[in-house]
Amino acid sequence: MKNDCIFCKIVKREIPAHKLHEDTETLAFLDINPVNIGHALVIPKKHFPNIYEIPEETLLHVIKTVKKISHAVKKGLKADGINVTMNNDPAAGQIVFHAHIHIIPRHINDGFSHWRGKRGYQEGEKEAVVQKITQAL
Ligand code: 5GP
Ligand code: ZN
Repeated sequence: MKNDCIFCKIVKREIPAHKLHEDTETLAFLDINPVNIGHALVIPKKHFPNIYEIPEETLLHVIKTVKKISHAVKKGLKADGINVTMNNDPAAGQIVFHAHIHIIPRHINDGFSHWRGKRGYQEGEKEAVVQKITQAL
């Protein structure tokens, strides 16, 4: 637990949240500032800042809960679709540094558009990128 972490405070019930599900490892609750109504967050109860530092076993628990909540959000809110996303690092939009996965219900014509590819690859660029990534594995 981290004293100054808002999600740790939710786990400890020091601040309120609208809980959807809880088990020994994970907690799911409504996002306070939803993209669409029913936007939910799933977190590990233990504090890990991001995907890099969360242990695989904990992440497995988290993703199982994500699946459970995704089904419930889709069924319960009659969503046409669900976006599941995780922001890691400020450059990717992370503002709360306790690992969490967003479950966002989507409806046809809800006004949001999908990310568009910005550009193609140049000749040889794909191979170079594959090499950089695979060398880092
Ligand atoms: P991030 O950009 O870090 O992936 O998203 C953090 C999310 O946490 C945001 O969507 C934000 O609305 C949500 N959030 C921030 N503070 C609170 C809070 O105190 N309670 C709840 N339920 N959600 C929060
Ligand atoms: Zn935390």
